[in-house]
Amino acid sequence: MSAEPDGPEDRLRRFATIWSRAVFPVTSTSLTRPEFEEQLLPLARRLSEALRARTFEAAEGRSVGAALVAAHCTDPEALSRALDCVDAYLVLYCGEDGPKEALRTRSARLQHAMAAGYAEALRERTLAEQQAISQAALTARSAVAEALHDSEARFRAVFEGAAIGIGIADLEGNILQCNGALLRMFGGSEQTMRGRKVTEWTHAEDAPQVWRLYEELVRGEREHYHVEKAFYRPDGTALWTNLTVSLLRDADGAPQYQLALMEDTTERRLLNLRLRYEATHDALTGLPNRTLFFERLEKALAAGEGQRFGLCYLDLDGFKTINDSLGHAAGDRLLVEVADRLQSCATAPGEMVARLGGDEFVALTTGPDTERKVDELAGRIMNALVTPVSIDGRDLTVRGSVGVVEGPAGERGAAEVLRSADITMYRAKSAGGNRFELADPEADARAITRNGLTTALPAALDRGEFFIEYQPLVHLGDGSVRGAEALVRWLHPQHGVLGPDRFIPLAEHTGLIVPLGRWVLEQSVRQARSWQERNSDAGPLRVNVNLSPCQLTHPGLVQDTVDILEREGLDAQALCLEVTESALIGADDDLLKPLRRLAEMGVDIALDDFGTGYSNLANLRRLPVSILKLDRSFTRGMQQFPADPVDLKIVEGIVSLAHSLDLAVTVEGVETGAQAEQLRILGCDTAQGWYYARPGPPERLHELALVDAVG
Ligand code: C2E
Ligand code: MG
Ligand code: MG
Repeated sequence: MSAEPDGPEDRLRRFATIWSRAVFPVTSTSLTRPEFEEQLLPLARRLSEALRARTFEAAEGRSVGAALVAAHCTDPEALSRALDCVDAYLVLYCGEDGPKEALRTRSARLQHAMAAGYAEALRERTLAEQQAISQAALTARSAVAEALHDSEARFRAVFEGAAIGIGIADLEGNILQCNGALLRMFGGSEQTMRGRKVTEWTHAEDAPQVWRLYEELVRGEREHYHVEKAFYRPDGTALWTNLTVSLLRDADGAPQYQLALMEDTTERRLLNLRLRYEATHDALTGLPNRTLFFERLEKALAAGEGQRFGLCYLDLDGFKTINDSLGHAAGDRLLVEVADRLQSCATAPGEMVARLGGDEFVALTTGPDTERKVDELAGRIMNALVTPVSIDGRDLTVRGSVGVVEGPAGERGAAEVLRSADITMYRAKSAGGNRFELADPEADARAITRNGLTTALPAALDRGEFFIEYQPLVHLGDGSVRGAEALVRWLHPQHGVLGPDRFIPLAEHTGLIVPLGRWVLEQSVRQARSWQERNSDAGPLRVNVNLSPCQLTHPGLVQDTVDILEREGLDAQALCLEVTESALIGADDDLLKPLRRLAEMGVDIALDDFGTGYSNLANLRRLPVSILKLDRSFTRGMQQFPADPVDLKIVEGIVSLAHSLDLAVTVEGVETGAQAEQLRILGCDTAQGWYYARPGPPERLHELALVDAVG
């Protein structure tokens, strides 16, 4: 231990050490204790100097107190410890060379000043801190307010500017607010909306779940729902919407409001309805089309036990003739008229009429007693066609063949039912048309469907299933055979011999008629040539070949004919091409050109089935024809004796007109000698019919001609 006594500096430091040890534990500072002591040392020095100063300044104590606050000795305990320390040790360590009593007084005054300075500093600091906090709070609050304002402004803008309708209502359904889009959708004003209740907005077409979902939402059991819903506008029209309703809860999660967002789908819905209408209705007649009919039929066939269906399948008789001879516009008008009439036949619930295409219509009846109803329906349909249809001042007779199918639901599919109806309709047509027939399962099984025939047609030509029969054409004056008409047949592997009425329309439809027609022409020309070789003394036998309208428009017609005649070595004069009247009436020059070319070469052109096509007799002059073939319907009127005088007059008129135009007249369908005699008297030139011979093999004709020649 050093004997050297401590200097004043050492003592000052010791005071600082004691002070720091007393206060450090209650100080919230990040300094270490020695570092803290270093901070206190200058304060200790100031106190020491104040204590010993010539003139005493208690204010030094104030600044030391304030410095303590600045040094984070803000704990109340820190001040009292500091004062205790000053009280006990300041005079002891720093006032050894002065009068003790005066030093003690000074120390006491310094302590008071320290306390005052400390309190002052602490208050200021607290104030400053509070101010900072409140300032911060203020700043924060205004930032929040601004943000709120912003978001509300944004919300307002969205609310008002939205193209979608937005409405807010309370949970009782009282409407509180609506945006402009919603008002525009409804076509009402804010006032008229505000007083209203959501629950008033029922609509006849509301789906059952619409109001159930609503109840669940307002009870707080569901957060939102989405439905398609209609509303009545004030003017009574319907507003269709996609509606989304959401539940709005308050800060505590309790249901508070309902928010509705609605999108106006009225236009889209109308468009969809329109598109659906167009997809399911026939543009010409406005009747339901095949698609819609199949939907209904399938529904009827899927109906429950005890339910039945009845179906009438109608095909107009001879519609093609009308279409060909009067033009498509007239044909269309006829179809529209027929459609209207049919529509009025099936007006009861569960009944419908549809157009399947072309001149084919269907009428459907459903329910438990269709056995009776379908019969009545078929009767009404036949009746509806009785009155002629007036088009362009002409009364057109409309006839139709109907196939009727009736049965219980749940047994057959739509396609099968329709097939049966089609077959039955065909049976009605084969039986002469203008009637209805009832479906018969056995007949169905045997029936030949048009579809089946159509698909078999192309192969039939390749396989040589077609053959030709010839029906003699007889000169009425002397009874001699002048030639024959070639009539094609199809020897079908399953169905036996099919007449041309069964497959020619199908061949026309598929285009096969062109190669088939060429084949017939080739065969017939070869046949005619062979007759001439074998029968030179009976005069040249001619051959008549039928041309279908499709062949007329085919560009190869003239060249094919020329080639065939040359190849087979037959004179053009020995060939007559028969074209139906309906194919030529209204024909333009382009269509007539090939026929004119053929006529110039010497080929005869005959107007077939004359009298069925509503043609204008004055038109005959334009046509390159040399023969009129009077339709069978004229000869039919002469079957009974005495013949119908009106028929006689008509035929007489036609014959004299034809002759005045240099046309020869051939009559078809002569079945009796009486008819033949009548027609001869009336001046007809040639005849054809069962009275002379049915169509048969080519050898028969040769024999007949030979008999002629001999007899
Ligand atoms: P079409 O040219 O008027 O032929 C006359 C039709 O009357 C034939 O019927 C014939 O068998 C029938 N027939 C003849 N005499 C009598 C009779 O005394 N009484 C009755 N009730 N009928 C008689 P088919 O053979 O059934 O021919 C029907 C139609 O098919 C023909 O009418 C013709 O338009 C068409 N056709 C026939 N062969 C061909 C062909 O090779 N090509 C084209 N495009 N059509 C053909
Ligand atoms: Mg013919
Ligand atoms: Mg004919």
